Amino acid sequence: MNKGYFGDFGGQFVPEILMPPLKELEKGMEKFLDAPSFKQELNAILKDYVGRPTPLYFCPNLSSELGFNLWLKREDLTHSGAHKINNTVGQALLTKFMGKTKLIAETGAGQHGVATATAAAMLGLECLVFMGATDVERQALNVKRMELLGAKVVAVESGTKTLKDAINAALRYWIAHQKDTHYCIGSVVGPHPFPLLVRELQAVIGREARDQILAKTGRLPNKVIACVGGGSNAMGIFYPFVKDKEVELIGVEAGGSGKENDYHSATLTKGSPGVLHGTRSKLLQTPAGQILPSHSIAPGLDYPGVGPEHAHLQAQGRAIYKVVYDAEALEAFYTLSKTEGIIPALESSHALAFALTLKHKLDPKSNVIVNLSGRGDKDLDIVFGTWSKE
Ligand SMILES: *Cc1c(COP(=O)(O)O)cnc(C)c1O
Repeated sequence: MNKGYFGDFGGQFVPEILMPPLKELEKGMEKFLDAPSFKQELNAILKDYVGRPTPLYFCPNLSSELGFNLWLKREDLTHSGAHKINNTVGQALLTKFMGKTKLIAETGAGQHGVATATAAAMLGLECLVFMGATDVERQALNVKRMELLGAKVVAVESGTKTLKDAINAALRYWIAHQKDTHYCIGSVVGPHPFPLLVRELQAVIGREARDQILAKTGRLPNKVIACVGGGSNAMGIFYPFVKDKEVELIGVEAGGSGKENDYHSATLTKGSPGVLHGTRSKLLQTPAGQILPSHSIAPGLDYPGVGPEHAHLQAQGRAIYKVVYDAEALEAFYTLSKTEGIIPALESSHALAFALTLKHKLDPKSNVIVNLSGRGDKDLDIVFGTWSKE
């Protein structure tokens, strides 16, 4: 395999000036990720701070309704309530081992910003979060959270004042401050080595789930289902199963409202190959190559690109990708809350909604794992309509 590539996807499509910090990061990963001192400290953090291993929960009520065995990997039970913390504590620790003192991050809805600020506070790093000025206004509570955690939030006033402008501002800052600063990217996206780094840090989800299902059922699961925004929770749970050919891997993308003129976030199902944010993957673009804005009811799925390794798994036929619309995700949100007493994140509700479509279609002995990437408390404003949709 070409270094930094997953088949035809991945790579480093960046200006020359970004190569030194990327090379330095690659070196840091080679030196520390497998070093006993790093692994020991990371494992201790994952156990006592993040709350790992997270349970693999068998849904008794929903399983009998569906006619197969439904299991949930409970990333919603991690500290701060979603899988994003696995990545940010790992990158924050690597930053310390590399002798740097500052973390920067980009954030749209604010979830990755909060997860980065959390990890930075715990590990004693300075933290700067870039956020489009429009998002700063819309996500006032998450801005307060980040500030409470000791981070500084920078409102980006350029362009559309949203996520993509925040990414550009963070990159510019990184170029100017690479000596003491690490750019903590939030998903399996961006130039090499980020897709690899974030996948390695999230693969703990799949390693645990694989051990847990083997211990509980004595065999591998029939299907593993996860929602896909940038693709990190899905890559994290898929990766340890990739070699197990009998396990079907299903990524679920957000289809938005499903109306003809509405933009959606279903990058793998509706997009085409192209370069975005330093990597070759699939993205939502016009025939002329203009990036289309994405939309989903789930803030964490609102990204016009997707990690290159997913594009590769799809091209190989090793994983399949499905689309779920806002209304179906909402229905799954209500269903899990009522049947199992678990309020899922709207992102995770997309994965769950696909599992619900399998009702009475599988062998009753089938085991299906859904990655419950986060908890839904953060989404109540959206669900109950006080959120102004722009
Ligand atoms: C951010 C987020 C996602 C989407 O990000 P991925 O990188 O695709 O995992 C999914 N679920 C939750 C709860 C999130 O916060």
